[in-house]
Amino acid sequence: MKKLFQITKKNKVKFIFNIKKIKFFVNKKNFKTNIFRDKIFDYVINCAGVEAIKIANKTFPDSKFPRNYLVRGVYFKTMQKFKLRRIIYRAMVPGVIRERIDTTPLLDGGYIFGPSVEKSKTTNKKS
Ligand SMILES: Cc1cc2nc3c(=O)[nH]c(=O)nc-3n(C[C@H](O)[C@H](O)[C@H](O)COP(=O)(O)OP(=O)(O)OC[C@H]3O[C@@H](n4cnc5c(N)ncnc54)[C@H](O)[C@@H]3O)c2cc1C
Repeated sequence: MKKLFQITKKNKVKFIFNIKKIKFFVNKKNFKTNIFRDKIFDYVINCAGVEAIKIANKTFPDSKFPRNYLVRGVYFKTMQKFKLRRIIYRAMVPGVIRERIDTTPLLDGGYIFGPSVEKSKTTNKKS
C-alpha cells in the first residue's frame, strides 16, 4: 500500500485521509459531495466495501442495486502447533457464499480455522 501510495502521488493523485462519512449528490451529469462543497466531480469510484451498496442507493434512490446479504463469520483459534506454514483456502465459486474452512497460521503463533457463515435476518434489511 505504501508503494502504491508513492506511485500514485507521483502521478498527481490527491489523497485525503480521515475524512468524515462521505455522501454524493447527483448534480446534473456530475457529482457533488458533502465534504468539498465547492467542487464538482465527473466520476466517482465507489469502493466503500460493505457500505458501497448503501452509498449507491442513497446517491441514486431510483436505481436498483444488488442487495447486501451480510453474514457473520466466526473463527476457531487454537495455539496448538502444526507443521503448516501457509494459508490454505478452499477454491470458491464467485458470488456463492457458503461455509468453508480456511486455515490461517497467525504471526504470533497458533492458527485460526473458519469462518462460519451465520445468516441473520436483522442484518439483511434493505440498506
Ligand atoms: C475477517 C476477514 C478476513 C479476511 N481475510 C482475508 C484474507 O486473508 N485475504 C484476502 O485476500 N481477503 C480477506 N478478506 C477480505 C478483504 O478484507 C476484502 O475483500 C477487502 O478488504 C475489500 O477491500 P475493499 O477496498 O473493497 O473494501 P474495504 O477494505 O472494506 O474498504 C472500504 C473503505 O471504505 C471506507 N468507507 C465506507 N463507507 C464510507 C463513507 N461513507 N465515507 C468514507 N469512507 C467510507 C471504509 O472505512 C473502508 O476504509 C477478509 C475479510 C474479513 C472480514
